[in-house]
Amino acid sequence: MRVLDLLTKRLMSLFENTLKQINEAAEIMNLDKDIITILSHPKRIMQVSMPVRMDSGEIRVFEGFRVQHNDLAGPFKGGIRYHEQVDMGEVKALAAWMTMKCSVVGIPLGGAKGGIIVDPKTLSKRELEQLTRKYTDRIEPIIGPDKDIPAPDVNTNGQIMAWVVDEYMKLGNTNKKGVVTGKPIECGGSAGRDQATAQGGVYVLDEIVKAKGIKPEETRIIVQGFGNAGGNMAMLLADKGYKICGVSDSKGGLYCADGLDSRKVDVCKEEKGSVTQCQSLGSGYEVCTNEELLEKECDILILAALENQVHEKNADNVKAKMVFELANGPTTPEADKIFAKKGITVVPDILANAGGVTVSYFELVQNEAQYYWTAEEVQEKLKPIMVKAWERIVEIQNKYSCTLRQAAFISAMTRLKAIMEQRGFE
Ligand code: NAD
Repeated sequence: MRVLDLLTKRLMSLFENTLKQINEAAEIMNLDKDIITILSHPKRIMQVSMPVRMDSGEIRVFEGFRVQHNDLAGPFKGGIRYHEQVDMGEVKALAAWMTMKCSVVGIPLGGAKGGIIVDPKTLSKRELEQLTRKYTDRIEPIIGPDKDIPAPDVNTNGQIMAWVVDEYMKLGNTNKKGVVTGKPIECGGSAGRDQATAQGGVYVLDEIVKAKGIKPEETRIIVQGFGNAGGNMAMLLADKGYKICGVSDSKGGLYCADGLDSRKVDVCKEEKGSVTQCQSLGSGYEVCTNEELLEKECDILILAALENQVHEKNADNVKAKMVFELANGPTTPEADKIFAKKGITVVPDILANAGGVTVSYFELVQNEAQYYWTAEEVQEKLKPIMVKAWERIVEIQNKYSCTLRQAAFISAMTRLKAIMEQRGFE
């Protein structure tokens, strides 16, 4: 197959996965065909190019996207991803999942996503800032606190959000900090946003553990993707007594059957650039490939890297009893079927990682009110939202005897259907 064909296949497959998930749930809940049709199409797609003068003196043009999937529940909302393999199909899928995610937790926001095709690690800080400011300039007409609110995603962070908000304010001569979330505290960010995705995941896991009578100290965990979401989750779970046996990043994995010290690994990764450089931290620590790590012995496999990580070729080799999706779309529909057959519980992304967007919503509320909450207040408000979303999904699962993913999509689409029916479809 030619490279272009392979690329096209990849492009198609991620959004197709989303459509399969929508259709499966829609069939179970007997959803009106018109609603399915509307939810199967993003409302707006913007494709942009950004010429940047590189440190070498040459001009390089970068390509980017912003996909606005649906704004029935409120302004579009979704992160910006910087990755060399970002493509339109991926951004469309991620935008649609955002619509579903906001609906699962019942916050008044819709779904969007953005991306730039770039490996930010190859750029200097000046080049990265120029690229970010140009991208903000390109999407400025369609973003804003009451239109579309970006946030960090893979390879983007608070510093990048600070550049976005600064550029947006200059361009529009406004002081609307709520144009992006995930900002540093000094620039109008919310306490607790950095850990929010992981913290929300922990609140959901706490409920599952309570219901199943699982003992944290007897539970071995592997975390694929030791970044913002996965790294924080590993450390929060280690604090609760879980045994973190394996972690990984884009360069490979680190495993120890007796448990790793995730805080030390975090410091070491920061210093040396990868968890694979941290073998000397303890006896029994072994370096492995990312593929090998997914197949190691553990009780819970937390997927916190990228999409399509478990698929029809490796799902059968996963030994975990539970797969927890902190990343978006890490399990393909084919892998889902294999897991269902093997009795492996999959806690779906649109619930598991919804803590991030929920605290982003809190950030927006604080920006609009110009009144800021403490980290404790943020946690107090986050927990009941995550627990309620989980309980609603369990109720739906019991009603329809379906998977948690199907139940989460039914939960989301039930809310969207109610809005459409009251406001009209056109
Ligand atoms: P990040 O860039 O902070 O971390 C990603 C980590 O995954 C990095 O350590 C990277 O090296 C690693 N990685 C990349 N490819 C890998 C591979 N093939 N195998 C193993 N590790 C790999 O990004 P993040 O913000 O933590 O996002 C991770 C996932 O969580 C994404 O799917 C993102 O959409 C999702 N998510 C993030 C947030 C958030 O608030 N950050 C919210 C919801 C969902």
